[in-house]
Amino acid sequence: MTILTRLSTALLLSSVALLPVACGENKDAKHDKPAIETADKAPAQPTKPVKKTDDEWKKELTPEQYEVLRQHGTERAFSDTYTEFKHQGSGTYYCAGCNAKLFSSAHKFDARCGWPAFYDAASNENIKAIEDFSAGMKRVEVRCAKCDGHLGHIFEGEGFNTPTDQRYCINGVVLKFVPDKPEENPETTAEEKE
Ligand SMILES: [Zn+2]
Repeated sequence: MTILTRLSTALLLSSVALLPVACGENKDAKHDKPAIETADKAPAQPTKPVKKTDDEWKKELTPEQYEVLRQHGTERAFSDTYTEFKHQGSGTYYCAGCNAKLFSSAHKFDARCGWPAFYDAASNENIKAIEDFSAGMKRVEVRCAKCDGHLGHIFEGEGFNTPTDQRYCINGVVLKFVPDKPEENPETTAEEKE
């Protein structure tokens, strides 16, 4: 009896342990995808306002991107995008809706707030700020100036030790990350010779 119970417990445990592997195999294409959309090359920049119907946006964006960009949603704090953002190296962030250049890793900082934070924008002409009273208080909403997609909010004067003391609190899911290419360094090659 006891041995049997132990055996079945062991079997149960091992099948439980196998479960995540099985799940991972089934949808590995989805799991391999980074939480923040990533591309190798800088995308072509929109030259005029990007206007699409709601159906077109729904088709082009992931449900998470659609919810934030087009429905003014907010992603969960400390989500996968935040974890990923913290570990990303240098690069540029573009709008996931229209490819407009928005932010640079040079301006990112860890505000420990659970969302990607920048203290400045990379292209001010691609960012617009709008007063937002939706949460029962005055906040400043940040939108992409090219596609009018909701990005997050901007807060000021919180005492962060950054050059602007501004916090662009941005939903990671609206960003498209393009990592900087490692620069070819002729000096290294010269050193390697001798
Ligand atoms: Zn945009």
